[in-house]
Amino acid sequence: MNEKILLVEDERDIAQMVAYNLKKEGYRPVLVHDGSFAPLTAAKEKPALILLDLMLPGLDGTEVCRRLKADARTARIPIIMLTAKSSESDKVLGLGLGADDYVTKPFSVKELLARVQAVLRRAAGPEAPAAPEKLKAGTIELDAARVEVKLKGSPLELTSKEFELLKALMASDGRVLTREALLERAWGVDAASEIETRTVDVHVGTLRKKLGREGARIITVKSYGYRFEA
Ligand code: CA
Repeated sequence: MNEKILLVEDERDIAQMVAYNLKKEGYRPVLVHDGSFAPLTAAKEKPALILLDLMLPGLDGTEVCRRLKADARTARIPIIMLTAKSSESDKVLGLGLGADDYVTKPFSVKELLARVQAVLRRAAGPEAPAAPEKLKAGTIELDAARVEVKLKGSPLELTSKEFELLKALMASDGRVLTREALLERAWGVDAASEIETRTVDVHVGTLRKKLGREGARIITVKSYGYRFEA
């Protein structure tokens, strides 16, 4: 508790409403209204979580996110993006910027606080039970211990969620995994009830694209989930 949360939001009434409610829950909000101040403030304040609006003066949210993830001092701080439309949210996740979650405006305070709690718990929580350290299928090689994936022998850049999804799918021995099960593996048990299962589809979509031809190994099982064809 008492975790510091950096809130980057130019709409002052939203910023104040969110800050008020964060305080009420025992968090310590730090407010920034201009995107260009966000990276430095994050490096200085070291918040436990960043709530980042997408449309900002100075620097927009995607650029702020990119800079935060590129800086060793802030790269590991979880980020929840605040976006105006769910189509923007898909884009944010699809860009592979490393945001952990998103909330679409207008959001309810209750929903936002649930996401905040879930992301913080996940960041602090114990790791999921260990999967085999090295997994291989076709030209895909996954090394769980080194958090590395190679495709045809070359390193493949995946976001943390794409990596966790691929690991869960490859470790499942061809069994079908429901979207809920995949949410649990990649986002944590506590978060699974609070994040939309559609989020899994978005990340599986970007993962498939990055895997190229090997992406066909991830098979959609209609109205159930996904299966990995080794
Ligand atoms: Ca804005």
